Amino acid sequence: MTKSYVIKPELGKEYPVISHGKGIYLYDKDGNRYIDGSSGAVTASIGHGVEEVAEAMYAQAKEVSFVYRSHFSSDAVEKLATKLAEWAPGSLNWTFFVSSGSEATETAQKIAIQYWQEKGRPTKNRIISRWMSYHGITMGALSMSGHVLRRKRFTPLLADYPAITGPYPYRKPEDMSLESYALACANELETAILRVGPEQVAAFIAEPVIGASGGAVVPPDGYFQRIREICDKYEVLFIADEVMTGVGRTGKAFGIDHWGVVPDLMTLGKGMSAGYTPMAATIVSDEIIETITKGSGSIMAGHTYSANPQSAAVSLAVLDYVEKHQLVDKAAEQGAYMLARLKELADELPLVGDARGLGMLCALEFVKNKQTKEPFALSGGVGGKVIQKAFEKGLLIYPAMGGIEGVAGDAVIISPPLTITTEQIDELISLLKEAVVAVQQELQDKALIG
Ligand code: PLP
Repeated sequence: MTKSYVIKPELGKEYPVISHGKGIYLYDKDGNRYIDGSSGAVTASIGHGVEEVAEAMYAQAKEVSFVYRSHFSSDAVEKLATKLAEWAPGSLNWTFFVSSGSEATETAQKIAIQYWQEKGRPTKNRIISRWMSYHGITMGALSMSGHVLRRKRFTPLLADYPAITGPYPYRKPEDMSLESYALACANELETAILRVGPEQVAAFIAEPVIGASGGAVVPPDGYFQRIREICDKYEVLFIADEVMTGVGRTGKAFGIDHWGVVPDLMTLGKGMSAGYTPMAATIVSDEIIETITKGSGSIMAGHTYSANPQSAAVSLAVLDYVEKHQLVDKAAEQGAYMLARLKELADELPLVGDARGLGMLCALEFVKNKQTKEPFALSGGVGGKVIQKAFEKGLLIYPAMGGIEGVAGDAVIISPPLTITTEQIDELISLLKEAVVAVQQELQDKALIG
């Protein structure tokens, strides 16, 4: 292989070079086949090599790929925004287009702060977020993220946003009912707002299902309903970060739909263009847009590639594909089957403490001891070992390590394209089992698990 000058995640490591993808499979140039069991980074939700998307991309490129958003609109962005308004709950009718999930959450943060300024309440400029969360890697988004591992090197540059913990049902106090636990966790938000003062708080941001920092951690019923009540009581905007959970991933259009709660702002990324192009969005309520329209009349955010027609045409083709193939319902049905199969692994294998998830966003959490639920030291990298073993066997899965030593365990995310069939799920599960059993054996040989 000729020398590579690409800066890769692990410097010095050689990565296989991909040649093509079709459906849930990816193929490298050495002829190896991989099941994309995580849709990359929970992104390729309609699978690889979809003709309709390639055609839409080509058709748009022939017309026009780029216009700057302060000069022109385009049919593609207009149609996409209209479709998103149809998909989104409540009065979430307005879309600000960006190119990554981090840009989407930072834009949401800025719009929330600007909204209160335009209402004549400029002191409401603080965002409250949760530990064990991930909202992106740029400084503003990382400030909101409670992902300790990713924050660590930059702590002095980050604002103090994570203030509360999200519900983590697997590790809830045993003597507490799920209902009381849901309320206790949500009530932490009220305490946090009262500590800093409601007149300082612009918004609360949360992932409907915790992704990269915990591994498909699903909140108990009642949690988000109570969060909504608290936000209303103290006039705090609620931002649902749907970058991972949006566009059908959890078996509903958006993750927050599972609890019938309507946020004030919502962010999308990943599945919105299913990896065919960089595309993300911040969706905003009528009330916010009307306030800013009557005030300064302009949102102070944006990037060169915001609202470019090329990405909009691709995203529109992806949403059409999701609708045409009823992939939201399919994610619910096939996700339930996949979770049942994952729970079999949790019953059978001592290394697997928990199998959990919602729709096609699932995870396994690994523990040293199933009875005590003792987590592994993060430096032990058990999740990483399982990911490596699975990779060697031709299965891609995704890490979820919250980075809170002794609290959040090692987990891996299993989130294949929503198009996966039952037979393909069985194929995925059997490779995953082989990988977990191999790592379990290695740990047992070293007497590292009970
Ligand atoms: N928000 C959530 C919930 C995410 O899972 C991610 C990425 O994993 C982001 C934001 C950041 O998105 P991106 O990596 O596209 O910047």
